[in-house]
Amino acid sequence: MSFPHETQVLVIGAGPVGLAAAIALYQLNIKVTIVDGSSALHKGARASIVHSRTLEVLETLNLAKPVIDKGTPADHFTMRGKTEELLTVDFSLLKQDTQFPFSLLISQELIEKIFVEEFEKLGGTVHLNKKVISIQPIDNSDNVTVFFEDGTSIITSYIVGADGIHSIVRTTAGISFTDPFTGKQYDDPKGSYELIVVLSDLFLEEPLPEKISRNALTIHLDKFLLLLPLRSADEGNGPFWRIGINFPNGADVPKNPSKELQKLINERNPWPTPITISSIISASRYRVRVAQADKYHSTIGNTNILLAGDAAHIHSPTGGQGMNLGICDAIAAAQAIHAHIHSDSPKPERDEIFAAYSTNRHIIGRRVIGTTKGLTTVINSNRGWRRLIRNAVFFVLDRFSFAKRAFVWRVSGLVNRDV
Ligand SMILES: Cc1cc2nc3c(=O)[nH]c(=O)nc-3n(C[C@H](O)[C@H](O)[C@H](O)COP(=O)(O)OP(=O)(O)OC[C@H]3O[C@@H](n4cnc5c(N)ncnc54)[C@H](O)[C@@H]3O)c2cc1C
Repeated sequence: MSFPHETQVLVIGAGPVGLAAAIALYQLNIKVTIVDGSSALHKGARASIVHSRTLEVLETLNLAKPVIDKGTPADHFTMRGKTEELLTVDFSLLKQDTQFPFSLLISQELIEKIFVEEFEKLGGTVHLNKKVISIQPIDNSDNVTVFFEDGTSIITSYIVGADGIHSIVRTTAGISFTDPFTGKQYDDPKGSYELIVVLSDLFLEEPLPEKISRNALTIHLDKFLLLLPLRSADEGNGPFWRIGINFPNGADVPKNPSKELQKLINERNPWPTPITISSIISASRYRVRVAQADKYHSTIGNTNILLAGDAAHIHSPTGGQGMNLGICDAIAAAQAIHAHIHSDSPKPERDEIFAAYSTNRHIIGRRVIGTTKGLTTVINSNRGWRRLIRNAVFFVLDRFSFAKRAFVWRVSGLVNRDV
């Protein structure tokens, strides 16, 4: 499909969040165009879990089934300590509450592939190599012109900014990006990292230590070693493993850790059976800072822009929340735009729709950031008295079903149904 000169809604960014927004808008019969600056969809180790609440929201777009079909439903995950199982997070406790009482193990790459296929089935096209370089208001109009690096442009009435951490939509609208708990700017040169982790997708030799689950997440907290089985996006390429290795703040971790990965795994492996790499698909260092857009809605000229996904929030991947939160933002943004387009109310009341989007998604985002900060503190507490406190907290969580259920309720995202 040739690139249009104008559109009703421009979605900037074709990560999982932009793609979810584009599908939702298309299904709502809104003329939507989605662009991405890169030449191909992203590869490499990123998100790998879809939680219950996200599946409920995807179900409204008929997307839950295609996603579940390609993933592995895990009804629990296990956190281990020095010798013992410390805590089993049991998603089957949610059986009475949701039709999806599990966390789905699936790579972000595969989700993006499914979303692109579903968008194309609807008749949509993802326009790659379209890097946005500026967004200019048009005098006496509710529209803006969006300019691309390749010299082309498009006129639009609404923008969904799903363009990731360094969002041009957010910066053009002048929305600040700060840690909602400390007030620190995202790009503060003095800011420290909340978490440093090496993430790798790889194939491992059999036999593996028997304590490693084949159909769920296994985390050894004392050694910080995380293992998760995933299916490949390339049919026939077989299942592979995601490994995560955590480092303390200030640790000197190589940017490209492939060469040292086997050594790192040997150091962290708490079991007598070796974990041996057969081949590495990708390995990278990931340093996490925390930030949230002060608001998720603004205007450029008279054009409404909504932020969604990493453009609106960034935090630790602990608990696997980022992509989940972003996909839920995206679908809420599409619904808000639909309601705005079809509202007969006078402008101030009509604009309340976007104010509500901003307020509600900000509340949920802040709540998720709080949860990931808490979980990150827990996983960083693997020495001395902090470790003792961590074990005591897990002891309580593991023994008392109401505490365990409250924890699962939060991690699954079902806690956010009420906003
Ligand atoms: C190592 C790692 C591990 C993670 N683990 C998890 C996890 O376990 N669970 C979880 O839920 N989340 C996890 N996350 C977070 C998750 O990957 C992100 O939340 C998710 O990718 C956000 O999706 P997005 O679509 O908002 O942004 P992105 O995926 O970053 O997509 C943004 C898109 O915008 C495009 N873009 C940017 N600027 C422009 C421009 N000017 N013009 C046009 N296009 C532009 C980019 O090319 C990109 O394709 C992890 C992230 C990382 C990096």
